[in-house]
Amino acid sequence: MKLPIPCRALLVDMDGVLWRGHTPIPENIEVLKEWSLPKVFLTNNSTKGRARYRDRIRALGIEVDLDHILTSSYAAARWLQKRGYRQAFVVGEEGLVEELEAQGIEVHTDPRWILEEGHRPEAVVVGTDHGLTYEKIWAAQRAITEGAIFVATNSDATYPVESGLAPGAGTILAAVQTAAGRAPHVIMGKPSPILFTQALEILGVRPEEALMIGDRWDTDIVGARKLGIPALWVLTGITQKVEQPPDDPHIYIARTLRDWITQPSL
Ligand SMILES: [Mg+2]
Repeated sequence: MKLPIPCRALLVDMDGVLWRGHTPIPENIEVLKEWSLPKVFLTNNSTKGRARYRDRIRALGIEVDLDHILTSSYAAARWLQKRGYRQAFVVGEEGLVEELEAQGIEVHTDPRWILEEGHRPEAVVVGTDHGLTYEKIWAAQRAITEGAIFVATNSDATYPVESGLAPGAGTILAAVQTAAGRAPHVIMGKPSPILFTQALEILGVRPEEALMIGDRWDTDIVGARKLGIPALWVLTGITQKVEQPPDDPHIYIARTLRDWITQPSL
């Protein structure tokens, strides 16, 4: 089955494209399975390690290896490792801790390490944390105001779940940022160029040769277009309806991937 536009490789968002919460989206998955183009799957979600995503995508029947999965946690770990950071206080979950440790970074998640024992980490990394506490915000604030580099996995205010929207890393980031009195030094996730650029490198294509498939305007679509990557906005996730189609010939809109290939003029 052919794509309606010329394209050599795909960047595929996960939440809202492959699944919504725990529910797979077959209208997108079945089409992706039929396209043999090289694909990188990317997500701003920082809570799970890349291996979990690889297994979850394989369980949908889509073949993928670890090198073609990008998460904001992995990007943060690589970013810190490349710049020589060896130690971090983390407001985040298992996936973030796992990726940082895999890059040889010593991780601390207990706020008492800072607030009671007086340690000063080189870096503070903030992502989604379902176990967020006042003390964690306080420890992050103290470390940042005393000079730690401040890294955010992503700034999404919310993320889609079956029942609607849940608070995302951006909500937690706002708390830390407010307490610390400064914005993060760097944000890894979309719409920042970091994940997109890493994906293009892996795929070995120029921006205009790729296609970004995503459900979120302000991260997937805006971020891709800033780098010159054509984008397909699917309405299976966070956005269900587009009131005013954007004035950009390199943005395509479709209810689902199945709709896009059967009615490409929509
Ligand atoms: Mg999404």
